[in-house]
Amino acid sequence: MKKILIGTHNSGKFKEISFLLSKKIKKISPKSLKIKSPKETGKSFIANSKLKARYFSNFSNLPVISDDSGLCIKSLNDKPGIYSARWAKRYGSFFKAMKVILKKMKNEKNRSATFVCCLTFISKKKIITTTGKIKGSISYKIKGKKGFGYDPIFIPLSKSLTFGEMTKADKMKMDHRYIAFKQLKKRIKI
Ligand code: IMP
Repeated sequence: MKKILIGTHNSGKFKEISFLLSKKIKKISPKSLKIKSPKETGKSFIANSKLKARYFSNFSNLPVISDDSGLCIKSLNDKPGIYSARWAKRYGSFFKAMKVILKKMKNEKNRSATFVCCLTFISKKKIITTTGKIKGSISYKIKGKKGFGYDPIFIPLSKSLTFGEMTKADKMKMDHRYIAFKQLKKRIKI
């Protein structure tokens, strides 16, 4: 059976990437191999996605898919962006980070935001990185308990529910990770 190491410690991302990959592939987590996370020193989603892929592949002989992603909010100068996970750490939790965002945007009419995901596939032969983006807006309230991270404050364009209110299947048919994965599949057999 083919094996792929999914280079993330984030269980939400792990589940989504596992769901996208063929059932015939055995999905391995870094945790099961006792591999820690690398320091995200890159200045862009692409740089961090490649950095993670190289790091995880150095610790195993397996092909790796890594993900760097985040929420870019227009009125906050595209923050938290690559710092999305770090904001949650800084403020204590994703719930608290979402509260901070909603407070910062209390009187803001421009609620445009984009979820971005860069996926990198690395094997002995190649390294491929693709990007997926989904546009939408920031809700006025935290809504929904499904999904992970910032899902409860993001409403995709032309929808009325936040990602946090959608079923996993509905979110995963349209989100930034799915779009990046579709691009990846055009270039490699996975
Ligand atoms: P990193 O790529 O490990 O730096 O983490 C990215 C962070 O962005 C995650 O911890 C989430 O908080 C957030 N994020 C990325 N993709 C999603 C998503 O699909 N839903 C909600 N939050 C996300």
